[in-house]
Amino acid sequence: MVKKVTPKNNSAKSGLIKTEEDKINKRGRRSTREIVTVTGMRDILPQDQRYWHAVKKVAEKIAADYGYGLIDTPVLEPVDLFVRGVGKQTEVVEKEMFAFKDQAGDELALRPEATASVVRAYVQHGMLNQSQPVKFFYQGPMFRHEKPQSGRHRQFFQFGFEAIGEANPALDAQLILMGWNSLNELGIESVIQVNSIGCPNCRDNYRKELVKYYRSKSKLLCENCRKRLTTNPLRILDCKEEECQKLKDESPQVLDYLDDDCKKHFMKVIEYLDELDLPYVLNPFIVRGLDYYTKTIFEYWSTDDQEGKNALGGGGRYDGLVKLLGGREETPACGLAMGLDRIVAKMREIDLEIKDEFQPDVFIAQIGEAAKKKVMVLYEKLRQCEDFRVAQAFYKDSLKNQLDLANKLKVKLTLILGQKEFGDGTILIRDMEGGIQEEINFSRAEQEIRKRLLKYKENGANVPPETNKLKIDNN
Ligand SMILES: [Zn+2]
Ligand SMILES: [Zn+2]
Repeated sequence: MVKKVTPKNNSAKSGLIKTEEDKINKRGRRSTREIVTVTGMRDILPQDQRYWHAVKKVAEKIAADYGYGLIDTPVLEPVDLFVRGVGKQTEVVEKEMFAFKDQAGDELALRPEATASVVRAYVQHGMLNQSQPVKFFYQGPMFRHEKPQSGRHRQFFQFGFEAIGEANPALDAQLILMGWNSLNELGIESVIQVNSIGCPNCRDNYRKELVKYYRSKSKLLCENCRKRLTTNPLRILDCKEEECQKLKDESPQVLDYLDDDCKKHFMKVIEYLDELDLPYVLNPFIVRGLDYYTKTIFEYWSTDDQEGKNALGGGGRYDGLVKLLGGREETPACGLAMGLDRIVAKMREIDLEIKDEFQPDVFIAQIGEAAKKKVMVLYEKLRQCEDFRVAQAFYKDSLKNQLDLANKLKVKLTLILGQKEFGDGTILIRDMEGGIQEEINFSRAEQEIRKRLLKYKENGANVPPETNKLKIDNN
C-alpha cells in the first residue's frame, strides 16, 4: 500500500519534488514514493558485470568443449512440473516456491531449478528419438522464497549441464569434471564431495535404517529434523544444526546399503575420478535436497568451506525423472548446476583479478563543432577494429572534461582534434602515461594507433597494474 506523504513546504507541493523529509521520514525509512527491489532480489549493476560475464564465458566454453547445446526454457512453468519432478515434500517445493494462480486460474510457478524444465523439454519435443545422450547447457535466473541471509537471494542465477539418455558411469565422472573445471578455470579451488544414494530400492532400504536410527534419538534432533523424520529423513544428514551434526557420525552409511549394481556403478565413477586426478572426498552425508536423484550425487565446496555451508554447485544422476515426467521409457540421465551468485561472491572474496573485456584502449576528444562532426565519422570506422577498443564523449564540449574521462577510463592513447588540426588535416595523438603528444596525418590515425599499442604490448606495459585492481563496492 502506498502511504501519502504530506508536503511540508512549497517546493514539494507538486508532489513530484522530493524533500529531505520525504527521503528519510521519522522512522528512518525511505520515501514512500521511491520503489525499490523486492525482498531478496537485487540489481546487478554495470560495474559488477565483469564478474558475471567472466563466469558465463567459462560456462559457455565448457559447454562447447564437451558438446553441450544451449537450451532456454521459460522461467514460468506449471506448478505440477516441480511438485512431480522435484518432489512434493522437499523444502524447495513445500516452502520455497513462488507459486500462484494466474488470471485464467492456471497454477504456475517461477522455476526453482532447471533440471525438471530441461527434462520436460526433452519429453515434450520427443528427443528420445535423437541420438542419445542429448546434452543440454542452460543458464539463467531461478527463484526460491528463502530466508534472506547472506549469500541467499530469492532470484539467483545458475548455469548447468544435463545429459539425458545414458547410463554409463563415465558420463557421471565427466559431468563432475566439467563442474570442477569451470571453477578451476575461474581460479577457484574446490574439493568435490561425492556420494551415491543408490537406486530407489537401495534408497528405500537405507531410509528405513536411517529412520530406525534417528527415531531412537529423536529427542536430540532439532525441530526441523524431527519433522524430516517422517517427510524427508535423508535431509537430516545435511542439517547444519550442531545437535544433528553430532548424531550423524554414528548413523548408518548409505554405501553399506547399495546393491551390487549400484556399488559397481559408483566404483567406476570413483575410478575415473582417480584417473583424472581430481580432488574429491567420499562424503556419505551429502544427500542433495531433491527427490529425483539416484546413484551418484556430488557437490563442490571451495577449499576453505569445510562444512559445505556454501556449496558452489552440485548435481547427480536422476535415472527416474524422465519417466516420472511422462517419458515413454526408462531413461537414465545425469546433470549438475552451478550457483553464479556464490561463485561471484567467492571471486570477490579471494580478490580474483578480472580483466574488463570492454576496457577501451583509445579515447577520441574534440574541440569545436566542425571537429566534432569529423571525429564522429572517424569513430564509426575505428569502432569496427577488432584489435582495439575506442571510447568517446561527443556530448561534451570541454576538452578538460573529455581528458578527465579519458584518464578515468585508463586508456593508453587519446586522439585530439582541435580547430587547428581540423584545418591542417592532422590530429593529435597523446600518450596518456607519458603525456607526450604528437601531430600526425588524420588519415594515418588507425595505423598509428595500432603501431603504438603494439609498442605498449612489447614493453609489457599494455595494462597498467591498477586497472585490474579497481576496488568495487561489495554490496
Ligand atoms: Zn540399487
Ligand atoms: Zn537438524
